[in-house]
Amino acid sequence: MASVAFIGLGNMGGPMAANLVKAGHRVVGFDMVEGNLSRAAEAGVEPADSAAAAAAAADCIVTMLPAGPHVRAVYMGDGGGEGGVIAAARPGALLVDCSTIDVDSARAVNRAAAEKGFEMVDAPVSGGVGGASAATLTFMVGGEEQAFARAEPVLAAMGKTIVHTGGPGTGQAAKICNNMILGISMIAVSEAFALAERLGLDAQKLFDVASRSSGQCWSLTTYCPVPGPVPNSPANRDYAPGFTADMMLKDLRLAQQTAHASGAATPLGAEAAALYALFSNAGHGAKDFSGIIRMLAGKA
Ligand code: NAD
Repeated sequence: MASVAFIGLGNMGGPMAANLVKAGHRVVGFDMVEGNLSRAAEAGVEPADSAAAAAAAADCIVTMLPAGPHVRAVYMGDGGGEGGVIAAARPGALLVDCSTIDVDSARAVNRAAAEKGFEMVDAPVSGGVGGASAATLTFMVGGEEQAFARAEPVLAAMGKTIVHTGGPGTGQAAKICNNMILGISMIAVSEAFALAERLGLDAQKLFDVASRSSGQCWSLTTYCPVPGPVPNSPANRDYAPGFTADMMLKDLRLAQQTAHASGAATPLGAEAAALYALFSNAGHGAKDFSGIIRMLAGKA
């Protein structure tokens, strides 16, 4: 079994690192938040004093950080390849970034790693905290064939679907395309339930029809934004996350950045980003993203 460094032990990284321990890997971890580090230690992760110290001990370095600037700083240190994980890692170590970040940052870090002789993949995930805990995440992995082959057995301890999406950055591209579908479809499903209420159509009846008709989608059948039809969806616990509206906004903004840069027309993606910005600015960014139904129905 490999020696793994895990940097970023938050809501997702904590349970992911715990699953690596369960799979028999030696895991050395680091997080800037002491409480997250001690929670990981309870799950068998050996705490390190810094990201560089964790990286220096590992065959494989996994990161699960908030956004592009954190990933650039952790890997590249001063931005020139010195002082970060790339400078501290031992020769031949594999670098795996599981954070959701912009494609440009993913490719910049991959290039900096390659210049120092390291193989790296971008491997963002879908499946949320539940999937991270149950080791059922979906990984979308961008990188060279050989780097993917090396990463796959490590990722298999944390997820059940692992897709090689192509070269560096394509994992992040897949992630933001998927989440743009999710953001738009949640708004569509929410608008339909808000309309049904106005028309005197019972929410459960709409669910019974749409879940077996052409309106069927994940936002409806797995994550229904009204309480009742899907008992474990966040709507049944006053929209406690789950996946926060601010996280959804972050991903929709990443999609818009790349849409502008590449010339892709994504008008509904742009509208979804604007609606989530309104919802977040109204003070609901920490709620689950499915809570946007309350704003769309005129209740928040
Ligand atoms: P989180 O904020 O709970 O965890 C991030 C962790 O990184 C924190 O513990 C923070 O202290 C740590 N960190 C930040 N800078 C650091 C540094 N320089 N060195 C060491 N640690 C540092 O966030 P999360 O929910 O775990 O999400 C992590 C990533 O996964 C994000 O990119 C997010 O978009 C993505 N994601 C989240 C979910 C979800 O449902 N939460 C689902 C899919 C993908």
